[in-house]
Amino acid sequence: MTHDPTGSTSTDRRSFLQAGAVAAAAVSVGHAAEAQEPDRGKPEAADKALGIPRRPLGKTGIDVTMLNAGTGRGAGIQRILRYAYSQGIRCFDTSQRYQSEGDFKQWFQAEPAVRKEVFVVTKDLPRTPAEIMPMLDQRLAAMGTDYVDLFFVHSFGDNHSLDDAIAYVKSKEFKEAVAAVKKAGKSKLVGISTHHRNRAQILQAAAEGGIVDAIMVQYSPWLDKDAPLNKALDACHKAGIGLISMKQLAGHFLGTGQKRNMLDEVKEKVPMLAEKNLTPFQALLHAIWTDERIASSCVSMTNTDQIRINSDAARRFAPLKAADLKSLRDADLAHGPMLCADCDGRCSHAAGTTAALGDLTRFLTYHEHHGLRSHARECYDALPAEARDWQGADLEAARAACPSKLDFARLLPEVDRRLS
Ligand code: SF4
Repeated sequence: MTHDPTGSTSTDRRSFLQAGAVAAAAVSVGHAAEAQEPDRGKPEAADKALGIPRRPLGKTGIDVTMLNAGTGRGAGIQRILRYAYSQGIRCFDTSQRYQSEGDFKQWFQAEPAVRKEVFVVTKDLPRTPAEIMPMLDQRLAAMGTDYVDLFFVHSFGDNHSLDDAIAYVKSKEFKEAVAAVKKAGKSKLVGISTHHRNRAQILQAAAEGGIVDAIMVQYSPWLDKDAPLNKALDACHKAGIGLISMKQLAGHFLGTGQKRNMLDEVKEKVPMLAEKNLTPFQALLHAIWTDERIASSCVSMTNTDQIRINSDAARRFAPLKAADLKSLRDADLAHGPMLCADCDGRCSHAAGTTAALGDLTRFLTYHEHHGLRSHARECYDALPAEARDWQGADLEAARAACPSKLDFARLLPEVDRRLS
């Protein structure tokens, strides 16, 4: 238990969150897409690296910047990478799927010295441990580097039964594959990334297995202290596994159908925002970093304004008091989060439907908040028909059952309108 300047303890901060409320995630610092972009990175801006706090990545012996630049598809990734670097971000995230590895290659070729200064994470989908090494070789070739700092088995659990995923992460074969990768110097660390609905069980297995170095996990700062995921995070933290949060901002404060400007309303309800001169999204990041188990937050940033605002949040981070966390949580939930953040499917069960309500809202968030429109439609199309058909479902019962209180009656017609 650590003490902060507020006088509360970190355990207190986690424990107060009893509401069982789990927020949705997404970055809408992204609303600033139309805002004036700041100057491109100037040489002196690199000094700001010193201003972005770092945290130990579990017991790996490596400190990472608390803000991790998630990269995605699209134009202008080169500019995003360089601007993030100029703002002091030294942790970068990509994957085989994101199609941004080629941008890293160009960056490293143009500025070879950068490679050693950044902590680079990539991912792929090895169905078996034996596939890890050849897939990692492909990723290294795509990025034009002979090593990465961290390799994740991507979307862990999505391509296996839960039993198989649990067996995988504890298996002798996985342990040997990880050792071989490290011995070859191709990745310093190996772990898993997961947004699986049963990720609490997967994390518990990883903590018991003692093989993975780090886990990137879909996270919410509003976890109930008794929630299985909260307990699994404790187990991983105790086991020395470095924890990176993801999908933590998207889907908040979107305000569809609101009469007033939602962000102004939130500012009225959460006085701390004005006192600290924080945007609601910056405050959400502060809420996440108040959880000292989280070493770094991977935030998908698609324009320089998002990078500037999120970097500023990191530089000015101070742990939030319990009362401020609570008012921020209440304002967040009152404003109808969009993304299913702690999915165990209880909404569908309560609604008496085979529709995958959590998945549908997640894909809507990809579309609306991340700007991943074709990816969102691909995900939607990949669902079986019965998982898309929510007609006849008791949407009020679903909302009541959902810890994030997703407003399905508002969101699902939007899903049909935008994705079908
Ligand atoms: S109840 Fe449904 S939408 Fe809400 S968090 Fe769980 S699975 Fe996601």
